[in-house]
Amino acid sequence: MALVRINGLHKHFGSNHVLKGIDLEIEEGQVIALIGRSGSGKSTLLRTINGLESFEQGEIQVDGEHLHPHETDLRTLRQKVGMIFQQFNLFPHLSVGQNVMLATTVVKKIGNKEAEDIARTMLLKVGLYEKFDAYPDQLSGGQQQRVAIARALAMQPRVLLCDEITSALDPELVNEVLAVVKTLAAEGMTLIMVTHEMRFAREVGDKLVFMHHGRIHEAGDPQTLFSNPQTPELAGFIGSIN
Ligand code: ADP
Ligand code: MG
Repeated sequence: MALVRINGLHKHFGSNHVLKGIDLEIEEGQVIALIGRSGSGKSTLLRTINGLESFEQGEIQVDGEHLHPHETDLRTLRQKVGMIFQQFNLFPHLSVGQNVMLATTVVKKIGNKEAEDIARTMLLKVGLYEKFDAYPDQLSGGQQQRVAIARALAMQPRVLLCDEITSALDPELVNEVLAVVKTLAAEGMTLIMVTHEMRFAREVGDKLVFMHHGRIHEAGDPQTLFSNPQTPELAGFIGSIN
């Protein structure tokens, strides 16, 4: 049984029909690379899976939890789904350790000592164990994004959604963040990753999903699709970013 199941998902913003019947199944441990032009609906799809956007039609299921249109109780779902954005959104007045601990103490109501242990474990995982007491403005962009990853991991999500998490970084900082994601993938984390890093999508992705005008236009093995796109739209997209 798939960890994430999306059936017939439709989403409008006013008269703008943004998701036009998305069907997608993600197995536990799978890494999905989600690609497509700006405005094709990638961020909206991720935000809908995380319950940040409502939808009008269809069904989303994460680890057996159903999410219906206009769902209001999102607590269980949110604990199963972690999300990381282009902007790191760390609290500047809190230390790195406090940033990572915050959601676990507030949302999961885990005690301070245990939350600190989890935070240190996750910071170790992203290579920032020694930054526990540092403040965000003392870190590089790449380090701040790694803290944001640690913060998401501290909630122990079943699936992690990454929306262009290296797009705001200086080029020399991209690889340290991708390396962390690569480690997570190797450890079996289920990932859905919107990325413009095609080499990464090809190397780490188990499945490539190409969105075009609110639909999944092509999906399949990354190696195969990159070397042999089946539609002119995917061929054009690959050509435009190389
Ligand atoms: P992508 O991430 O692939 O660039 P988005 O999911 O951000 O695409 O956007 C898909 C479409 O939805 C675009 O037409 C965009 O303008 C529209 N859209 C996205 N977010 C909102 C919003 N909060 N309100 C209104 N329209 C939105
Ligand atoms: Mg987007």
